[in-house]
Amino acid sequence: MASVRLDKITRRFSNSVAIADITFEVPDGQFWVLVGPSGCGKSTILRTIAGLESATSGNLYIGETRVNQVPARQRDVAMVFQNYALYPHMTVAENIAFGLKMRQTDPKTLQERVETVAQILEISHLLDRKPRQLSGGQQQRVALGRAIARQPQVFLLDEPLSNLDAQLRDGTRSELKQLHQRVGITTIYVTHDQVEAMTLADQIVILDRGTIQQIGDPQEIYALPKNRMVATFLGSPPMNILPAIYTGSGFQIEGQTIPCPTTLQAKLKLTSGQPLDLGIRPEHLQVSQDAGHLITEVSLVEPLGRETLIRVVLPPENRSSLNVQTHPDLRLHLGDRLSLILDFDHLFLFESVTGDRIYPIRSKEI
Ligand code: ATP
Repeated sequence: MASVRLDKITRRFSNSVAIADITFEVPDGQFWVLVGPSGCGKSTILRTIAGLESATSGNLYIGETRVNQVPARQRDVAMVFQNYALYPHMTVAENIAFGLKMRQTDPKTLQERVETVAQILEISHLLDRKPRQLSGGQQQRVALGRAIARQPQVFLLDEPLSNLDAQLRDGTRSELKQLHQRVGITTIYVTHDQVEAMTLADQIVILDRGTIQQIGDPQEIYALPKNRMVATFLGSPPMNILPAIYTGSGFQIEGQTIPCPTTLQAKLKLTSGQPLDLGIRPEHLQVSQDAGHLITEVSLVEPLGRETLIRVVLPPENRSSLNVQTHPDLRLHLGDRLSLILDFDHLFLFESVTGDRIYPIRSKEI
């Protein structure tokens, strides 16, 4: 096992920059997740670590060794892709053993290793089957088995669950987490699925357009996103963003004004007339029987059993919409007028152009 350190890694393709100045270090044995929208550079980072792409500039270390010039085969990393690419003419056992055979492992060690890996992944009963005789989830486990059998220093996983149906994906996700807890290999995992990122990661790296937006543990990032992109990326449904104008004593949103508590006014140091984006998560809006902060109209009702998600718009213009998490006993219908209360303890404010968070203010942030 080993740590992985990227130091100002940049990768250009002809005239475009795929990733810029990527710097982070995954400590030995940790599970890190790279997450972000399509095209943000996740796979390019992973492929660069694997040695399938070369960095245009910057340094890459596995353990203490700078590996920029080390060919992929000698980096001692194992990569599992979204399409597992098992050899169709080989049995499960032969597929798992393939990487070891290539390294001239002696037959006894090879057999022991295959059996141990099959036990860990609970596929011992499938060892004599061919890939076409397996379900998607089983094939996926064989692909993981092939990677684990080699006992690499680093495990690189590129959207390994995206070909599985929803139920199988949930199951395999928990298995992956348990597997990591057992074998403890340094793992870097790429996904665009924020649920996978939140549930699997020791640390998440959020990327957008080739640059790092924030690094942190999942709860920390959820609670204190650095900017609007991060705030709206993590969380389902995402944080609501309302374009507003600060009036000095409140926030004007379309034709309505939400009063700003005086304690908050003192902290904000905003100028009257300043445009900003107000952010509030669906779970921090409450339906009020009395006059609340915002008058809204229900435009969608989604009962989910444990809770009901609703979407509301702000009349009369209906330009802004908000997702609200409500109690399932509350029977709501399309067109209902609702008054909402914002929980100011969980209010976010973002700079309207750059999207940087301006509230809450924290002095010590990475
Ligand atoms: P996805 O989630 O869609 O797989 P990603 O976050 O993994 O996306 P990358 O595949 O790393 O993104 O691509 C990052 C950027 O680099 C994209 O704009 C992509 O078009 C560009 N890119 C990647 N590979 C090449 C290539 N071989 N030649 C030119 N541009 C490339």
